[in-house]
Amino acid sequence: MEETNITGRQNIALLQQWLLEQGRCLCCGQPLVTNGQVEGEGVIITCPCQEKYFYLPKINIYKRLIKPNDAA
Ligand SMILES: [Zn+2]
Repeated sequence: MEETNITGRQNIALLQQWLLEQGRCLCCGQPLVTNGQVEGEGVIITCPCQEKYFYLPKINIYKRLIKPNDAA
C-alpha cells in the first residue's frame, strides 16, 4: 500500500534526524567526534566507516555530507 511506503520513508527520516541529534553516524550508529578538518564555521568529521559529516559547533548540529560518487 502506498500509505505504508510513505510512513516508512517518514520513519527513516525521523530515525536519521534522531541519530544526527544524538551525534551518531547514520550508517553505523557510532557516536561522532567533534574534532576534524575545520572549514569555515564548521568541522568536517569522517566516521570510522568513511561516512562524512559537517559539524556546526555553534548550534551543535551534524549534517551528512553526500559524497560526489553517490550523486552520480
Ligand atoms: Zn559511521
